[in-house]
Amino acid sequence: MDLENQKLKCKKHNQNEILFVKTDSLTDEDDIFYCELCLFSQQNFTLNNFTSMKQLMNWNEGEIIYNFPPLEDNQILNQIMLLKQEGKLNKQTLKINEFFEQLKSEIFQRLNEIQKIMNHFVSKILEIDFKIIENYNHLSKLSEFKKIVTQTGINQEELVAQTKQFLNIIKQNKKSNTTKFKCLLEDYKILEQQIQLEKPEEIKEKLLKTLNKFSYLNKFEKTEQNLKSKYQDLLPQIQFSKYLFESAYSSSLQISQNYLNQFIFSSSLSNKWGSFYSNFIIENDKKYIFKLKAEQLGSQKDNFLVFGLVRDETKDKDYCTKDYLSCSLCYSNNKFSISPYVRGLSKIIRGNFDNLSSETEIEFRFCVNKNIFQITDLPDKNHRAVLDENSKQNLKAYKNLRFFIGMENQIQITLLEARMEKK
Ligand SMILES: [Zn+2]
Repeated sequence: MDLENQKLKCKKHNQNEILFVKTDSLTDEDDIFYCELCLFSQQNFTLNNFTSMKQLMNWNEGEIIYNFPPLEDNQILNQIMLLKQEGKLNKQTLKINEFFEQLKSEIFQRLNEIQKIMNHFVSKILEIDFKIIENYNHLSKLSEFKKIVTQTGINQEELVAQTKQFLNIIKQNKKSNTTKFKCLLEDYKILEQQIQLEKPEEIKEKLLKTLNKFSYLNKFEKTEQNLKSKYQDLLPQIQFSKYLFESAYSSSLQISQNYLNQFIFSSSLSNKWGSFYSNFIIENDKKYIFKLKAEQLGSQKDNFLVFGLVRDETKDKDYCTKDYLSCSLCYSNNKFSISPYVRGLSKIIRGNFDNLSSETEIEFRFCVNKNIFQITDLPDKNHRAVLDENSKQNLKAYKNLRFFIGMENQIQITLLEARMEKK
């Protein structure tokens, strides 16, 4: 469309240049293009309903022009223009980088100084440590003592006499020896108190905990992702109940939640079993995705991570696995494989689920009505296992299912994600 030609002239006022386009509060009878004289002939004229022709013609991508598009609140466009004019966001990026670079260098400098001071103290304490041993060797005269009692070619009486003579000298030195050792020990204690070797670890913990406060950013990022995703994050609302095979070992099984709401389960005793089942009942028409990761605690072989679904009525029986809707993974030597004791999720349809690194995340995905029930390794997705034929019947028939996580021996499990399809 040749705007120049069409708009150069107003149809009502010949030869007049078009200055504005009416873009808001339009009625069917209204003209669209207005020259200077048209504007004067308008009743109840307000510039808010018009967009400048000049601005429109000169518009380039990234620019904002007055009054367009029409919004219910004109202040909004003004605010956007102000943000743009002040270049606020660009300035913020610079400020943020400046802030973090400075913070890093200040922290680094402080830590360097502290490290130097600590090293100095430690070398002092080592000196005293050395002095104590040196003095002990010297003052105890043990080498002399040993020489006396191990000499050959003298009779018993003579040996007794020599020993008595030696011990007499030692006795004479008792007081001065005591004072000397006491002094050294005091020096040692004073330095030890100053260094407080356990203190740096304590400060480190506190420092890292403080840095965790930046996690408000992660939370926002997560919320943003969740909004976009079709899935709802279940982590903030899940609760777990503990089921123990032997209740006496309750304290060896723990559950906690980190700042990302991820659950950490750990079992610290050998040959003890425990499970945690969710407070909610699975909705059969919804898709669910759970992501898990585990690592063995200690060097013992055969540590088990078990998870899956369990009926409400069997949740306190047979380690939660009675319904044959579960997977069992065995962790040894920082690798894991699908366990020979797996109940349900035993049909491997891709890869072999053998000797995978403990770093590998496991995705457990299911939808009861759609007969989906599978696990996959993340991020590679080289291995996949699904329900065996018999267990598929269980998935169809069973009602009131709950999600559960079980463990045996020394293992720590992290429930990284738990999501449910929104619609
Ligand atoms: Zn006109």
